[in-house]
Amino acid sequence: MSADLRPGLAGLPPESLAAWFAERGHASFRARQLNAGLWASGATAASSIGTLPAALRSEIDAAFSLDTVADTELRLADDGRTEKALHRLADGALIESVVMHYPARRTADGQQRERNTVCISSQAGCAVGCPFCATGELGFSRDLSTAEIVDQVRSAARRLAHRDRRLTNVVFMGMGEPLLNLDRVLEAIAALADPDRFGLGARHITVSTSGVVPGIRRLTALGPQFTLAVSLHAARDSLRDVLVPLNRRWPVAEVVGAARDHARVTGRRVSYEVTLIDGVNDTDADADALAGLLRGDLCHVNLIPMNPVAHTPWTASPIERIERIAARLRRDGIAVTIRRNRGQEVGAACGQLAAERAGEPAAPAVARRRELLVVRSAAALRGERMTEPAEAGLVAALAHDEDRLPVRPIPVASAPTAG
Ligand code: SAH
Ligand code: SF4
Repeated sequence: MSADLRPGLAGLPPESLAAWFAERGHASFRARQLNAGLWASGATAASSIGTLPAALRSEIDAAFSLDTVADTELRLADDGRTEKALHRLADGALIESVVMHYPARRTADGQQRERNTVCISSQAGCAVGCPFCATGELGFSRDLSTAEIVDQVRSAARRLAHRDRRLTNVVFMGMGEPLLNLDRVLEAIAALADPDRFGLGARHITVSTSGVVPGIRRLTALGPQFTLAVSLHAARDSLRDVLVPLNRRWPVAEVVGAARDHARVTGRRVSYEVTLIDGVNDTDADADALAGLLRGDLCHVNLIPMNPVAHTPWTASPIERIERIAARLRRDGIAVTIRRNRGQEVGAACGQLAAERAGEPAAPAVARRRELLVVRSAAALRGERMTEPAEAGLVAALAHDEDRLPVRPIPVASAPTAG
């Protein structure tokens, strides 16, 4: 089967689409009809947009793909409240997205409306290589195109609509590091937030990063756009070096410094994600360090029990320990939410389905990896920082990216210059 080389229509800026119509001598209202079919009706081929003349429909379908994630396999869990999608892209790359349904419930401060959140991927694989993450273990394949990012959301919205549900939130917490594919991620967000295109309020979009400081500063310079989430996992550099290898490039103080400036400039609170691993980053000393680091900041901490992943020796912290950490943070006035695991049966920590498809690594390789992690985390707990250089893949990804991530000056007093 030959690969589908057509660009995705959902990634095309409106002015490029208008130019395409003009060049071919079509009236501009035809572009509006196509847009209505693409965005309002969720069409997956121009052939289904009845308002367009047949010849034009064929011309559009020959030039563009209206659904770059057409090849999708679904798995349900949690009584249908979690739906995991494995998308095979035109070149065979596998990515994942997850739809989570949260029913409406009565809360102390009034009624909370139903939420339907889709967690989407920004890259196929990831170069950062966090050892507790299934995607990290897969390594990096490629950046997703703007359309491949947007089409995961359109696909989710269409599936929800079949069940009379409306998509309310988008989170970039699937495969990949969004800030290492920032141009496309920003284009995708522009399409999702545009009232004339997908039309989701930017307030309902969250971008999660493992701590790409120049990327965070670039977002800050753009002003308040969406919620920024930072995957912190540890407040101490020795431990974060192991859990998030990017920490050896941008350590805790730089990451939190950039996040703090972001909150100050945009007035929007930053979320911190802390995945809790039994006996590794859940000690009282870790809780104290986290509280000391974030006390007084405009932020919110999400504590997440680690989803077990095959190649690690680690498991989730027990819930009592997570509650103890939450209580410690709250004592210092830090807002905390404990996120229970969702869709563990379908491997909702993104990357797990794709990792399954990639096949089990050989037993000796898993054993070596586990041993290395035990040694590294034990050293980290003694406060020793790693001396080994970062993996070659990560170094290459960063070198490539520094060309694309100009650190623009931003009007913040005492902003440390990012490296
Ligand atoms: N690369 C970005 C966004 C994708 S990962 C980032 O790291 O922020 C999204 C979130 O899932 C991150 O907070 C990550 O730490 C978390 N995660 C990855 N693997 C996990 C696992 N096995 N259990 C729990 N959370 C996990
Ligand atoms: Fe990449 Fe995020 Fe997974 Fe780390 S947690 S490997 S940054 S996807």
